[in-house]
Amino acid sequence: MSDITITRLDASSTDFFRQLHDLLAFDKTDNLEIHQRVLAIIADVRSNGDKAVIDYTNRFDHRSVTQISELELSPEILKSAWNGLPTEQAQALQTAADRIRAYAEHQKIESWQYTEADGTVLGQKITPLDRVGLYVPGGKAAYPSSVLMNAIPAKVAGVGELIMVVPAPHGETNQLVLAAASLVGVDRVFTMGGAQAVAALAYGTETLRPVAKIVGPGNIYVATAKKLVFGQVGIDMIAGPSEILIICDGKTNPDWIAMDMFSQAEHDENAQAILISTDASYLDAVEQSINKLLPTMERAEIIRASLTTRGAFIKVNHLEIAAVVANIIAPEHLELSVEDPEALCEEIHHAGAIFMGRYTAEALGDYCAGPNHVLPTSSTARFSSPLGVYDFQKRSSLINCSQAGADTLGKTASILARGESLTAHARSAEYRIKTD
Ligand code: NAD
Repeated sequence: MSDITITRLDASSTDFFRQLHDLLAFDKTDNLEIHQRVLAIIADVRSNGDKAVIDYTNRFDHRSVTQISELELSPEILKSAWNGLPTEQAQALQTAADRIRAYAEHQKIESWQYTEADGTVLGQKITPLDRVGLYVPGGKAAYPSSVLMNAIPAKVAGVGELIMVVPAPHGETNQLVLAAASLVGVDRVFTMGGAQAVAALAYGTETLRPVAKIVGPGNIYVATAKKLVFGQVGIDMIAGPSEILIICDGKTNPDWIAMDMFSQAEHDENAQAILISTDASYLDAVEQSINKLLPTMERAEIIRASLTTRGAFIKVNHLEIAAVVANIIAPEHLELSVEDPEALCEEIHHAGAIFMGRYTAEALGDYCAGPNHVLPTSSTARFSSPLGVYDFQKRSSLINCSQAGADTLGKTASILARGESLTAHARSAEYRIKTD
């Protein structure tokens, strides 16, 4: 296996910001053909309901069902998947679930209100979503951790009904995924996937009631369908390829950092792993570790493709510069592998999840540390946040006017409404102004 050479940038070079821009650029151009195909699937499901879902499922997942009820898995099937797990896996899932739930409990937003001097009460009432659809990918691989990360915050928020869809190619299901669904208390599970499952969740069919929001990752058909049903339902996000940015002061074992870069690169060829260091000789050492460890990896070819096309080493003169670069990249995952991660963290404003210190491998966050692994990618951490309980809660504002409050507010509202020529607004407010 030939050695790989990682692209190197130097933050002190005059051309650095253009090079950084090119490094981060990723062609997210929508595929028009897929867009049209998904649009047609959604329209078909809206018109023909269960029948369309059955047809597409039989076609794309190589099934031969005649009724949608054949796609639903009973609670007994889910329970037996849980009961059949090897003890070690059951314990690991339970530990991960407990930790994700404990973290999520801290995220709950509570209702609040306050009373003004004239007795008017203002507040915010928090309610959970009624029904949520959880998409769990199942075409090429299975992701039990995605079940935990998406379902637990919804449960903690108090979502009334959680409906999970997961494709079962050739009718085959993944026991760990079903066990995870049983563990977290998913209400209904349907073995269907792709755009047809997203459309069924968004618009409902004869057997499926429409949901308020659809969460969970998926392939291009799923992502395109989620974009197209947005507005009819809420969605969590459209995730791009996975990313990690590591800032290291040159004192962490280079093998650890090489493996942390691999842990993102092994996701897919478009994943991005970048290392920033103040020490050029350390970058050489990590490159040596990469070439030493790569032949030992099961997914060596994917890692190689990712690191050679999108990976990079960036040399900076100071850690403060590293923080500036990190804020521009706004990575999904950021490791601060330095002596004083708290001090460096002060400088970080944009990152999905921050992993602090030499012992905090990003992989721990993927599975079981507690925080959610559904994170903003492609620099969207500039304006968005990890999936959390708050994504399954809504806010309604409350206004409860006292008679004195109606009087004061009525006068202000009347003036503004008449300024807008909205006479009914003005008179509605004026009726409640005290006249005696
Ligand atoms: P999937 O469940 O997303 O897609 C399978 C479905 O795609 C099938 O059921 C079928 O309905 C549909 N499909 C396949 N070929 C089609 C065609 N020609 N026309 C119309 N529909 C078709 O499973 P997958 O394919 O394995 O993809 C999973 C994706 O999820 C991967 O891209 C993976 O990277 C991503 N993922 C992301 C995260 C994350 O956190 N960002 C986590 C897990 C998985």
